[in-house]
Amino acid sequence: MGKVNVATGHLQGCFGCHVAILDLHEDLIGLLESIEILRSPINDVKEIPEVQLGILDGSVTNTENRETAKKFREKADKILAFGTCACFGGIHGLRNLHPLNDVLKRAYTDTESTLDGKIPASKDIPEMLPHVHSLNQTIKVDYYLPGCPPTPTMIKKALTDILNNREPEIPTKNLCHECVREHHEMYIPKREFITENVTTLMELENIDPKKCFLEQGILCMGPATREGCDSRCVKGNTPCRGCMGPTPDALEQGAKMINALANILPAGGLMFMEDVVGVGYRYALPVSIYPHVKEKKTL
Ligand code: SF4
Ligand code: SF4
Ligand code: SF4
Repeated sequence: MGKVNVATGHLQGCFGCHVAILDLHEDLIGLLESIEILRSPINDVKEIPEVQLGILDGSVTNTENRETAKKFREKADKILAFGTCACFGGIHGLRNLHPLNDVLKRAYTDTESTLDGKIPASKDIPEMLPHVHSLNQTIKVDYYLPGCPPTPTMIKKALTDILNNREPEIPTKNLCHECVREHHEMYIPKREFITENVTTLMELENIDPKKCFLEQGILCMGPATREGCDSRCVKGNTPCRGCMGPTPDALEQGAKMINALANILPAGGLMFMEDVVGVGYRYALPVSIYPHVKEKKTL
């Protein structure tokens, strides 16, 4: 069997997903026995060739991203939305809360350190779209791999599945399901709405490294976030911020989190101590039903 031809492209994001491919280290050498990367931002080939698999990271935020995504769709038999920006819009999707002109003003003219700033305008600069979009709000997507960025294990498994003509399996349960921290109290429904003992990470002198963050009064997005990242933050004594995006049954990640806190914990006030939208929708606002959505798609 010949090698599978692949092209990769970067839309709007931090480029961390492409860097994560390099984190495969020696496994990359094994994969290169089965795939031929004809085009990527790393080898700087501009044209998009006809390929069997197109891998796109980043979200669609400007006219160039939209054009690139459409060209990939024309040229690739299958498209993989690679990483949370492509799957859900990503962290910069939070700009959807504001009119585009306010965002541009904040970036180029209104910052405290800016003197005589100007919003750049030139026919050579791609035009910003009014909203940030996930890839499947722009083109048809065949496969998804969330994660910011996906772990090397996830990338290897997904690519192996695709090379074997299987749809990559992505987990459907929430992060608490795979989390190794002890969590018992959170499953006991509480009637009272208690906000004492609610704390922030900075305030807690001694975080118990074995106990659930929520049960220590620290906001952790585990109940509303898809598992699969090997709980890498919570294992490292840092609460989950939700970068794997919502579980498939969640209409909205933020609303699901508020619901979880309100229903099962004596700490429903946790969410409200922080920035509700910035925390609950940090990675997936563009695919939520708020503030705009053309079509709700779950993965
Ligand atoms: S998903 Fe995360 S790592 Fe990947 S491009 Fe977006 S911000 Fe960067
Ligand atoms: S809330 Fe966080 S710390 Fe607690 S079980 Fe879920 S993922 Fe683990
Ligand atoms: S623990 Fe949460 S924030 Fe950290 S990698 Fe996993 S899903 Fe992302």
